[in-house]
Amino acid sequence: MIDPAQVAANIADVRRRIDAAGGGDEVRILAVTKTFPLDAARAALAAGCLAVGENYAQEAVAKWAEWRADEPRPSLHVIGHVQTNKVRMLAPIVDVWQTLDRVSVIDEVARRAPGARAYLQVNVTGEPAKSGCEPAETPALLAHARAAGLRIEGLMTLGVAGDDAVTLAGFRLLSSIADELGLAERSMGMSGDLELAVQAGATMVRIGSALFGPRPVAQP
Ligand SMILES: *Cc1c(COP(=O)(O)O)cnc(C)c1O
Repeated sequence: MIDPAQVAANIADVRRRIDAAGGGDEVRILAVTKTFPLDAARAALAAGCLAVGENYAQEAVAKWAEWRADEPRPSLHVIGHVQTNKVRMLAPIVDVWQTLDRVSVIDEVARRAPGARAYLQVNVTGEPAKSGCEPAETPALLAHARAAGLRIEGLMTLGVAGDDAVTLAGFRLLSSIADELGLAERSMGMSGDLELAVQAGATMVRIGSALFGPRPVAQP
């Protein structure tokens, strides 16, 4: 059950955390609604969050079909790993693709959603199993995505749970790559590490559990 008043209060708390970490209004909150019902997105929008993040293609498509035709909607950002065979189903509903990290998915998004808004996901912490391109690959991937017609607005990354030092260094690296490439958006920081992200220059923090509570089902 989603309580809109509680969500609004939680958004205000997150806003205070952002302020306390030295961020201002330029840091936007992306409400991460994966595993929560559409009412979570409705509550976030009512409380002033204009953008929502979803991770899983099937879930996002099923949920987005529930909007009433006359209802205002937040914009939808994809923040989970995107398989190329899911791009087609996602293309009609996605506003921003945050996790482009390889040529195959860039080409498929460019084909199914020509001119789409997107970020490149960068693996800034060197963990081998993690999604994201290598920092050194970012300029070439940016050039490829632009040549394919995509509007690349920024970079996105993930920290390492439980390792603040590595996470902060990684977030700073993301900001410096974004600076070098002239990209405005830096999507980094979640409920547990948003302060580190704000310190490192985040323009968007992606917040789920701090807004909606613990997720109802375990994450894969
Ligand atoms: C789930 C998720 C979040 C939100 O995580 P919380 O800890 O619930 O705030 C942010 N970013 C990504 C990529 C996620 O998968």
